[in-house]
Amino acid sequence: MRYEEFYQRSIEQPEAFWAEQAQRIHWHTPPERILDVSRPPFRRWFVGGTTNLCYNAVDRHLPARGGQLALVAISSETGITRELSYRDLYREVNTFAAVLTSLGVVSGDRVVIYLPNIAEAVFAMLACARIGAIHSVVFGGFAAHNLALRIDDAEPALLIAADAGMRGGKVIPYKPLVDAALEEAKRPPPRVLMIDRGLDPQMTRVAGRDLDYASLRASYEGAEVPVEWLESNEPSYLLYTSGTTGKPKGIQRDVGGYAVAMAMSIETIFDIKPGQVMFSTSDVGWAVGHSYNVYAPLIGGATSLLYEGLPAHPDPGIWWRLCERYGVRSMFSSPTAIRVLKKQDASWLKKYDLSRLKWLFLAGEPLDEPTAHWATDGLGVPVIDNYWQTETGWPAITLMPGLDLKQVKFGSPGFPSPGYRMKVIDEVTGEELPPNQKGVLVFVPPLPPGCLTTVWRNDERYVASYFSHFKELLYSSLDWAIRDENGYTTILGRTDDVINVAGHRLGTREIEESVAMHPACAEAAVIGMQDEVKWQVPVVFATLRQGVTEGSVDVAKGMQQCVVDQLGKIARPARIYVVNALPKTRSGKLLRRSLQALVHHADPGDLSTLDDPGALEEVRRALERGP
Ligand code: ATP
Ligand code: MG
Repeated sequence: MRYEEFYQRSIEQPEAFWAEQAQRIHWHTPPERILDVSRPPFRRWFVGGTTNLCYNAVDRHLPARGGQLALVAISSETGITRELSYRDLYREVNTFAAVLTSLGVVSGDRVVIYLPNIAEAVFAMLACARIGAIHSVVFGGFAAHNLALRIDDAEPALLIAADAGMRGGKVIPYKPLVDAALEEAKRPPPRVLMIDRGLDPQMTRVAGRDLDYASLRASYEGAEVPVEWLESNEPSYLLYTSGTTGKPKGIQRDVGGYAVAMAMSIETIFDIKPGQVMFSTSDVGWAVGHSYNVYAPLIGGATSLLYEGLPAHPDPGIWWRLCERYGVRSMFSSPTAIRVLKKQDASWLKKYDLSRLKWLFLAGEPLDEPTAHWATDGLGVPVIDNYWQTETGWPAITLMPGLDLKQVKFGSPGFPSPGYRMKVIDEVTGEELPPNQKGVLVFVPPLPPGCLTTVWRNDERYVASYFSHFKELLYSSLDWAIRDENGYTTILGRTDDVINVAGHRLGTREIEESVAMHPACAEAAVIGMQDEVKWQVPVVFATLRQGVTEGSVDVAKGMQQCVVDQLGKIARPARIYVVNALPKTRSGKLLRRSLQALVHHADPGDLSTLDDPGALEEVRRALERGP
């Protein structure tokens, strides 16, 4: 089917459209009503229908594909690969669910999962879903304080954790972080279920509180746990946003709407049919990991690859080797990860047989054109940029190769996904802007299935954060965007990050893109610095590609020229600092507000999601040295 037809129907006849899409999943009892919008901006999809995410992801496939691979968990850190068929997955999930039940976890309880990217994380999530417990996965390796904050917000009945994770060959003990978090938390859960990988021989246990999963698993192996049928709008899980702009929000997802969005998007966007192979390089701790490592590929009867490790360790060919070995059809990663690989020799992309690879999807951050070209040329497959948020749960702007592929326009993720009514509006007047004018990207409610239903136990924050920026009731993406006359939307950066140079509004992204045109540039971050004359001027922080021999003064000059050539004199960066690393969140997003704070000697706010404090130190030194 053509995208236009599909999309138009979702907008003009939303109930009929989603009623059809709902056929993709199993309902224990069918919905009584497709959509309830009696309390805007809230909305309820598939009211009265009962279903279960675990049943749809696992049980349903047993008759037709019990022996097919469901999950392949690869660790380039430990060197261990685990291949699980749907039947194996069924056994592991049931055993895990039986252990949870034995510990008194019941439907509606929250369970915080603090694990590395290993198979047990998937078992734990699906086991929770099976019994109706609400999981909240916290990215493994987040500091104790981050974990404590999320525990206090979610108030879990149980914490599931591992002894350690690994990164670049180094063991990173988690247990001391768990102990510290439980010390700090105001309402710590009474029990911790430990997945002991045997990585940390020094690990200590608190008697009576810390339980060992391996021994419990042995007692419940082979147990079967009945599925808890949940009303479509009951909460399935909580997931906290990345915290790029401030304190993370506890995004709440439903059951039925999410299941339908997953079932539809895996086929129509990611072009994956039952039996085909999807490789998402995300960690399960992020929104992409929830949706495209766990729920969507499994609901869709596909094979999902899960990867623990770095993109270029043990060598930059590791991901392409996996693509060859498992016959990956659709790969999903982030621009950040591809930029890491881009620093390495491009011949790594040519070493393996990638004839079954059809698409590389990238999401999470603006995809700069040089990176997109590098990957497209190197892999010989289209690179599909996807725009989404933790809140949306699935791509909001994308091309849909599973339906038909529209022409890729570099720099733009494409068109709205089914069910998303979008506008680019004037920040002040709230009026919709004509094509090619910059404004705020908003979604007209009701939000489609799969998007957040509220902020956990905080309906007020849901309304205040997203729906109270304009006179009209609109969901603000808080992103700055532009739409061309053909309907391609480009994201220009966050509304907070827009730089106003003498009355000209420039997205951070536009300037970053032009800096990245310089052949020596690996990655760039741009912020606005206060200026007496122009109000704000752009300041650039850039990292260089490996093997660049040019001096940094020349590189900086060249970058400045790139910006002037692309965007005009108005955008000329006032300063360019060449650094070895840029400050990022644990999910790989540039933390521009931390750069902003350093430049202005201001308080950087919550830095708990910062990945490498060394990067910030480095920037501080660069500022002291001068550009
Ligand atoms: P917080 O909301 O806590 O500040 P966050 O916004 O970084 O954190 P996420 O939900 O992980 O948390 O990130 C969503 C944001 O990432 C989007 O709002 C957008 O700014 C950016 N983004 C995601 N995908 C793309 C893309 N393809 N192109 C440009 N920007 C993107
Ligand atoms: Mg956000």
